[in-house]
Amino acid sequence: MTGDDRTLERLEEWTAEEAETEPLVAFLRELMEVQSRFRWQGKGWGPTSKPTLQAKLDREKRLDQGEPLLEFEDFDLDWDVVEEGLNSTSSVFARHADLFAQEPIEPVVGPGDVRRLARGWLRGTLDMEMSVYGLAVLTLTLNPFFAGYRSSLDMEFEQERWLQGRCPVCGGEPDLAYLDEERGARWLVCSRCDTEWLFQRMRCPFCNTTDHTRLSHFADESSPYRTDVCEVCGGYLKTIDRRQEEGSATAVGLERLLTLDLDAHAQAAGYR
Ligand SMILES: [Zn+2]
Ligand SMILES: [Zn+2]
Repeated sequence: MTGDDRTLERLEEWTAEEAETEPLVAFLRELMEVQSRFRWQGKGWGPTSKPTLQAKLDREKRLDQGEPLLEFEDFDLDWDVVEEGLNSTSSVFARHADLFAQEPIEPVVGPGDVRRLARGWLRGTLDMEMSVYGLAVLTLTLNPFFAGYRSSLDMEFEQERWLQGRCPVCGGEPDLAYLDEERGARWLVCSRCDTEWLFQRMRCPFCNTTDHTRLSHFADESSPYRTDVCEVCGGYLKTIDRRQEEGSATAVGLERLLTLDLDAHAQAAGYR
């Protein structure tokens, strides 16, 4: 069973258990279909040539200097298709507008703005410019393209060379983490390109504190999900304990959608 199948199965279970989740499940299912298509398209755009030995050495040097491997300009995306993607995602939100009663539906961008917004998004300089809603639509649109493109490149590296709180490939912040089945080691997942990298268990990826009296988590015992929180910087990170998950792991991009309620809880409690 693939991650996508597993997610569909979980969505079905969810609807069966609670009828009132049906509109939400319909929304998630449409969003998931759109995202799978983009991820696949982004994958098709990656260069086909193998990286040279020199490229590998440059890569090690960059990591040792604490610089991520790719700049925005390295993502050679087809912007017309990305704009179509943005329209598809916006339409899914518009079709289910009643789920987002507090946030007015607004047009996200005008034509031609997609590349500029994507640059700001990858560099993390957009926050002041967009509403929470606009940013969610943009993130759900761009993440599959960037993740698909990144997965077409050989981005293997020695994990011990990095161990930082931001993504070694694009410099983005994590928005998910998981503890692996084998050792319970903690992996962070990039909110922008889905790269997974190893990180210390008892350290905040946002402010780097290791003061264990200020790091905690809240969890529902019956679920593999928990939310790690930091009282020093107010950051939160959704975490999946894969040792508690049954069956094959759900694809990471989709775990994001299934855990939107954890974001709502953490944000209502004042974390960000
Ligand atoms: Zn990244
Ligand atoms: Zn922190």
